[in-house]
Amino acid sequence: MDQRSDQSTGTRQLVLATRNEHKRREFAGLLDGWEILALPDDVTLPPEDGETFAANALGKARAAAAATGIAAIADDSGISARALGGAPGVRSARFAGENASDEDNLDKLIRKVGATDDAAVEYVCAIAYVEPGRAAVEQVFEGRCSGTLIDERRGTGGFGYDPAVVPDDYDDGRTMAELGQDEKDAISHRGRAARDLARWLAGPESD
Ligand code: IMP
Repeated sequence: MDQRSDQSTGTRQLVLATRNEHKRREFAGLLDGWEILALPDDVTLPPEDGETFAANALGKARAAAAATGIAAIADDSGISARALGGAPGVRSARFAGENASDEDNLDKLIRKVGATDDAAVEYVCAIAYVEPGRAAVEQVFEGRCSGTLIDERRGTGGFGYDPAVVPDDYDDGRTMAELGQDEKDAISHRGRAARDLARWLAGPESD
């Protein structure tokens, strides 16, 4: 692989295609041995208007790799309700409108799903890895986390739809927002996709 490393420390570098510093720190924690660089201010990212999480993540990673000449990663995530044919999906951040708050989006999901008899939901996260150059390397890792949407809110952790999502992976009925960060990372769509990426970056000798 054609990756850049910091000459003084030997640490390998990846640029993360996001303006979200919280996400950058989260990825730095998940990708041990890698320095996660912030996206330079002058790099423009494409709009997230693809039909799949993978397409949106790939678009951002390609733009960051091409502009910086450094291997790049990007993610896109959201929640899909079975009763709504997979909606809101890639439109999760703007389900209740372009500038909708997390509360507005969750209100709308509870209302729409509550009108049906199927409360099954699934979080999905796609993480794309792109190496720049003529023979560009591209890989996408997808993680999923299934659960049930409830019509009340519990917990103060997490963000977005977490207060009303009870994950299948724990059997104590807590919502995602009632889990500790480590408990969420262990089962979350983002944690699962990031661990797959980390294993792939480490190479076959790590198995
Ligand atoms: P993005 O991947 O940062 O674009 O996130 C898209 C949207 O999906 C967020 O605004 C949230 O509404 C939702 N979402 C993604 N991941 C999570 C999660 O772990 N918990 C709750 N909501 C999430």
